[in-house]
Amino acid sequence: MTFRGQDGSRALYQFRRLSGTRFAQKAAARLALPWVALPQVALLATLPYREGMQSDRRYDVAIAGGGFAGRTLALALAWLAPKGFRIALIDAEAPQAEAPRDARALALSAASKSLLAVLELWPALASNAQAIESIEITDSPLNAVLRPYFLGFDDEFKTGEPGAYMVEAGDLARVLAAAVADEKAIDVYAPNTVADYSSDGFGIALRLGSGGAIEARLLVAADGKRSRLRERAGIKCVGWSYPQLGIVTTVAHAKPHHGRAVQHFLPAGPFAILPLKGNRSSIVWTESAAQGETIMAASEADFAAELGKRFGHRLGEITLAGPRQSFPLDLQIARAFVADRLALVGEAAHVVHPLAGQGLNIGMRDVAALTEIIVESARLGLDIGAAPSLERYERWRRFDSAFSAVVMDGLNRLFSNDSTPLRALRDLGLGLVERVPGLKRFLVREAAGATGNVPRLLRGERL
Ligand SMILES: Cc1cc2nc3c(=O)[nH]c(=O)nc-3n(C[C@H](O)[C@H](O)[C@H](O)COP(=O)(O)OP(=O)(O)OC[C@H]3O[C@@H](n4cnc5c(N)ncnc54)[C@H](O)[C@@H]3O)c2cc1C
Repeated sequence: MTFRGQDGSRALYQFRRLSGTRFAQKAAARLALPWVALPQVALLATLPYREGMQSDRRYDVAIAGGGFAGRTLALALAWLAPKGFRIALIDAEAPQAEAPRDARALALSAASKSLLAVLELWPALASNAQAIESIEITDSPLNAVLRPYFLGFDDEFKTGEPGAYMVEAGDLARVLAAAVADEKAIDVYAPNTVADYSSDGFGIALRLGSGGAIEARLLVAADGKRSRLRERAGIKCVGWSYPQLGIVTTVAHAKPHHGRAVQHFLPAGPFAILPLKGNRSSIVWTESAAQGETIMAASEADFAAELGKRFGHRLGEITLAGPRQSFPLDLQIARAFVADRLALVGEAAHVVHPLAGQGLNIGMRDVAALTEIIVESARLGLDIGAAPSLERYERWRRFDSAFSAVVMDGLNRLFSNDSTPLRALRDLGLGLVERVPGLKRFLVREAAGATGNVPRLLRGERL
């Protein structure tokens, strides 16, 4: 990583940008260059990958947003794109500033783990990552004395690799930040923002909040759910805010969890107990917004008492083992995932309810798909920011993301209530899942990210 200065070899850059275009072909024809020379002229379009031609402020890809999605994309491109490929990563916050604040642990699917493994990041995460070995689902009112087992996934997990791993958000942020800091192909501009941009047939020029300017062939908006770049591109979203709050914390318990994840569906929303290394679990607790605010403001003893009511007794005595943090919950899908020389990834493109722990996994699918498309185009010497590549990305990712958001929304609506007819309906549905042969195995494969048109990186292939 380098923090960037200014200037560079503008003439060479312009020549390189122009040389692969129709302009170059016309110019070559005028100069009576033999057609046989055109492949060499076109080859010059790939010259940014040569040493000595780099300018301080000109990049192949500029990524706005250095969260999990933005950093992973930057690393994937640095690792897999042709030599000389350069990436600018612009983030509103100073590097690592967010790591200690995030109280979450993230359920990363086996597919997301494969991506991190290809990028050689998994070994740094593995020692503190807890495999999910089984899942139990209950459906009961808040005041129920017992939370009876309703649906479980045990045998489906016994063969092969675990479907998901719990990784503490602080660990993931630190590992990504360290890898970015070590990567020479990535220049980090932070704290900084993209104040404005303009694009043309050759590239995209960015004006930074600091007053500086950089150029790239493609701009990626990874700037989260309130994406300024998405707004600047005039891309609207469909969606709504849930009248719910997501509360997260960590608890320690007397008995071991044996890698079992538990989801208690309660009338105000799902309460998830997710296994962490040691006798600890991460809590993702969805409450009605008003009740959630009260719980967040409660004293430590009252907070622990409310938590205890929902947690149950199976893991013995529990104690709070981490800070509490709350998140507003939304569903949001961008109406387009691309615009002129712009692609959206992660929560800039889609936000889903966290009840199945899929938000970042869907973002990792974006990262893997966009990397695959960019790397293929770059290797062929094609313009990575041109419309055909971007359209391919949108076709690949938009339906899949919208489908996931709708499924999460449906589950939240079906379960987050105390209605007797709906309880009967979901009990019937969960009963069917238990009985239909192969359905549970399919659902486990789906959660592992192994179904559909899976990008190669998520299958563990290096490209
Ligand atoms: C309670 C909860 C539990 C969750 N659990 C899971 C889970 O178990 N598994 C899972 O897969 N997902 C989970 N998610 C979802 C997951 O946390 C998100 O999908 C993921 O963090 C989004 O990452 P991102 O990089 O897209 O966006 P963000 O993490 O929001 O990153 C955006 C980045 O952009 C930067 N930025 C913002 N504006 C600008 C700007 N103008 N210019 C430059 N930079 C800017 C910010 O500083 C930030 O670094 C959960 C979410 C919640 C709320």
